[in-house]
Amino acid sequence: MSATPHHAAPANPSAPESAAPAKQDFIRQIVREDLASGKHQAIRTRFPPEPNGYLHIGHAKAICLDFGIAAEFGGDCNLRLDDTNPVKEDPEYVRAIQDDVRWLGFEWHDLRHASDYFGVLYLAGEKLIRQGDAFVCDLTPEQVREYRGTLTEPGRESPFRNRSVEENLDLFRRMRAGEFPDGTRTLRAKIDMASGNMNLRDPALYRIKHVEHQNTGREWPIYPMYDFAHSLSDAVEGITHSLCTLEFEDHRPLYDWCVDKVDLANSPELLEPVLSKGYPKEASKPRQIEFSRLNFNYLVMSKRKLLALVNEGLVDGWDDPRMPTLQGIRRRGYTPSALRLMVDRVGISKQNSLLDISILEGALRDDLDAAAQRRMAVIDPLKLVITNLSATHEESLTFPNHPKDESAGTRSVPFSNELWIEREDFEEVPPKGFKRLIPGGEVRLRGAGIFRCDEVIKDGDTVVEIRGELDPESRPGMAGADRKIKGTIHWVSAKHAVKAEVRLYDRLFLVPDPDNDEGGKTYKDYLNPDSRRTVTGYVEPAAANANPEQSFQFERIGYFVADRFDHRSDAPVFNRSVTLRDTWTTKG
Ligand code: ATP
Ligand code: MG
Repeated sequence: MSATPHHAAPANPSAPESAAPAKQDFIRQIVREDLASGKHQAIRTRFPPEPNGYLHIGHAKAICLDFGIAAEFGGDCNLRLDDTNPVKEDPEYVRAIQDDVRWLGFEWHDLRHASDYFGVLYLAGEKLIRQGDAFVCDLTPEQVREYRGTLTEPGRESPFRNRSVEENLDLFRRMRAGEFPDGTRTLRAKIDMASGNMNLRDPALYRIKHVEHQNTGREWPIYPMYDFAHSLSDAVEGITHSLCTLEFEDHRPLYDWCVDKVDLANSPELLEPVLSKGYPKEASKPRQIEFSRLNFNYLVMSKRKLLALVNEGLVDGWDDPRMPTLQGIRRRGYTPSALRLMVDRVGISKQNSLLDISILEGALRDDLDAAAQRRMAVIDPLKLVITNLSATHEESLTFPNHPKDESAGTRSVPFSNELWIEREDFEEVPPKGFKRLIPGGEVRLRGAGIFRCDEVIKDGDTVVEIRGELDPESRPGMAGADRKIKGTIHWVSAKHAVKAEVRLYDRLFLVPDPDNDEGGKTYKDYLNPDSRRTVTGYVEPAAANANPEQSFQFERIGYFVADRFDHRSDAPVFNRSVTLRDTWTTKG
């Protein structure tokens, strides 16, 4: 927790700045109005992940919104770990969540946990009991379900609903003291068993669970339910706008009920347990606002399914570059700015939809097209020998690092008489329209001159070497350099290039809707068997020298990133982030 409050400004200097045009979605409109009307002097938001899995691309939208709005309006955003269900939660997830938020370019005002407020929530439960707004119920979980009714039929009131305040207080205190076994009693809100909104049919606020918690240990044998904990955590933190996804729309009346009935803003005595932890006294009446979830085709984003992919070994882990987790796509070569660009393009609305994955990939392409330096690499090598250069010929050619950005500077690329070229850039029997190298034909070697293929050396049916001459008048800057030649191919000097492991990633699923389980199939039946192909290629020295996580456009091949964990200059490992164009092979 930081002692000195600071604004949720993007930690990353390349993050969007106030110079960008103001964003105009309906949530920002509400925030603007609340500031203009004086309803709020300052904005506070929170991002509340449950630490029961890794964050995914969908969470990036919530993060950019929660932290982004706070930053744009000079407010604060807390990172709050919603740790009310200790059975599924793990410190490993907590670390990754913090890493991911910072990676996306944001910094939290305070790091909080719902468990920080267990003391407040407990006192709030007693207050509701005293007000006659909550009761201890002895129905079993099955009976509770029976009593709840259906969407078309009202529920029935629990026979324990009219217990006296004294009896309720006594039982609730004994629940807290650990006197009762798991599942034998709940604290329930007393609202309306006939409500058309099922969430208001006397929902449970607390349940008994004798389990150890990662932060509070064995202190609590009872744990608060989501709606109760979430609404009151927002109030304790002084959250003004509590942004969440649309599935919580039906929960909003319960959210408001909890905030209003407990009324933390006017009940300083309930805040004692957090004041003693040094938290400021600043309870608010927060407002919940819902927006649509981010969903892309060709992906699954449910934590449960992602966990199964990891646990069943169908991927290499949470940070497998094919995973839609932030750790995964980071390793794939997605950049924070590409994700922020994607979130801006998608916008904020109340309309749920399944977006085309090309929006995600397009944002990465556009981001890397502008930001990534160019390099040459050959991923399916074929030897090319220039017979009119000596076997000891070596020189250094100068290449711009970026075709559209002079400030990216230049680099030296070694050139010699033996090169590697891409196997598919040569065809013995060319298909119609083939513009690259053919026997007897000419091609421009990028930045080095025009080469003519005089000889094709084969081993059986396999071409193993191309031999020919470089037109000595065609070197860059010479009179013959502009001679019209249809094709240009890239190359690396065989003597100088560094052997590299190149991981060619593709979509993890073959079908647009892997979540569709019609016909007894599941997402696991739709895994793309070719979602990763590893090849050995050659890269120019200036690519081998990359830092881990540095992205390049390998000319004519695609965007690649030096693997975050495995890349070394003397043993380079590159991951394909995205192809140059949207040409998904499996799509047919
Ligand atoms: P899951 O249902 O897969 O477990 P969740 O929504 O429960 O995910 P949380 O950790 O509770 O995951 O989410 C933290 C925040 O991120 C919540 O405010 C939630 O609304 C938001 N969020 C989760 N998934 C998406 C998504 N696909 N698009 C936008 N926001 C999301
Ligand atoms: Mg959740």
